[in-house]
Amino acid sequence: MSEKDELVFMQPFGEDEPRMVKVFDQIPSEVPVVDEQKRKLRMDTCRGCEFLEHNTLCSMCDCFMPIKTWMLSGDCPLNKWQ
Ligand code: SF4
Repeated sequence: MSEKDELVFMQPFGEDEPRMVKVFDQIPSEVPVVDEQKRKLRMDTCRGCEFLEHNTLCSMCDCFMPIKTWMLSGDCPLNKWQ
């Protein structure tokens, strides 16, 4: 499965209720993103991290990691990402 096909439970911008969505489709097209390999490495690191809550939220930076791991400007506050 492509990283871009990953589904997550979240509240899309402008909607009232959370639902299952393709996370990649929630990122505005003008936001620079990393390639799928780098995104997978980042997300795998987060999934093994003691600070990831509910498989999505980083308690160190309070960010929603399924989206932040796609962003070229994203970083790990503990420098755990390669
Ligand atoms: S961003 Fe860093 S500190 Fe946060 S969950 Fe991922 S690996 Fe852990």
